[in-house]
Amino acid sequence: MLLTAQRLFTGRMSELLEDLVLEIEDGRIANIRPRGSLPLSAEVVDLGDVTLLPGLIDVHQHLAFDASSDPVAQLDADDDHTLLLRMRLAAQRALAVGITTIRDLGDRSYLTLTLRDWFLEGNEVGPGIVASGPPITTRCGHCWFLGGEIDGVDGVRQAVRERVARGVDVIKVMASGGNMTPTVGPHESQLGRAELTVAVEEAHAAGLPLAVHAHGGQAVADALAVGADSIEHCTFFSADGVDADPDILQQLAASGCVISMTAAVVPGATPIYPAMRQRLAAILDNHATLYRAGARIVCSSDAGVGPNKPHNALPHGVTTFLPSIGMTNAEAITNVTAFAAAVCGIAERTGTLEVGKDADILAVAGNPVDDLAAIHDVAAVFVRGQQAVPATSTAS
Ligand SMILES: [Zn+2]
Repeated sequence: MLLTAQRLFTGRMSELLEDLVLEIEDGRIANIRPRGSLPLSAEVVDLGDVTLLPGLIDVHQHLAFDASSDPVAQLDADDDHTLLLRMRLAAQRALAVGITTIRDLGDRSYLTLTLRDWFLEGNEVGPGIVASGPPITTRCGHCWFLGGEIDGVDGVRQAVRERVARGVDVIKVMASGGNMTPTVGPHESQLGRAELTVAVEEAHAAGLPLAVHAHGGQAVADALAVGADSIEHCTFFSADGVDADPDILQQLAASGCVISMTAAVVPGATPIYPAMRQRLAAILDNHATLYRAGARIVCSSDAGVGPNKPHNALPHGVTTFLPSIGMTNAEAITNVTAFAAAVCGIAERTGTLEVGKDADILAVAGNPVDDLAAIHDVAAVFVRGQQAVPATSTAS
């Protein structure tokens, strides 16, 4: 297929390119060449006055949570078969807004692996999935109901090895409590430095990144100390507010650790958890401080955990959150494409529009480098060269 549009944003540079045609073969970008170099008889799909962007990548979702006000109740009510069908719809909802890759950081029964392979084998056009399986947690710890409870250092080692054997793409551990599970407060640590050290060693031995869920300041410090690849949330919850140690903020900024800020929300919707509502301004303030200090920040959503975080929330993080911490429009787009691909360890095959990469493409009306809101105006989505949403206009 030959695909063109008025503008092309490769994700490698901040400028838009014009008059180029993507040659797509076997799901990959085989060539990018000037339109004028093609024979007049060539059949080109021209999307017209749109911009082709790399497909978006959300590095933190939960396909198993239904984005209702009580996702745990829904999860308990569903058997695995029903759950898998619901996850498939959630993935399609994400794809429809241009999210061509989802990193799922916590499922039940390894169902995301089933869904990943279902899409990958070509049974249905669906987003790429990078999956952790059930997150590793303590007895009755955060999200214990997903099935990843373990005891101590040996339990962590065994759990990581089990996930590696299952074929996961990333290891997820819950270093602190969270808002969803009343048994452990978000500010409290549940896995310490010894357990996290084993998790990082075992994950890296298998060539996988370690993503650490950490709200409390101690859990953030521990994740940083052991060399976690990403810290998810990084909110610095204390018992009654937010308390970020300036030294730790400095160290985070100087480290190579990715801070995954689960900040994409649907505008106007408030967090369902009062503890989060009351701390939000202080959390966002720390995020801006981290960005200004040079931290490796990625915008993600934690999609599924509440009504303000449906599985298609990520584009709102691009238009609202990323500019609020100081990113330019081009930087914001690159953050959830090229950089997010690097965070997932899949930058060699997606995240930019370059020869040899998968043809994961989001076509939006207008020019999002001038006006970011354009990314909400989806004209077409392609995943590995297959169209997911009908184009608004095609001509040859
Ligand atoms: Zn999460």
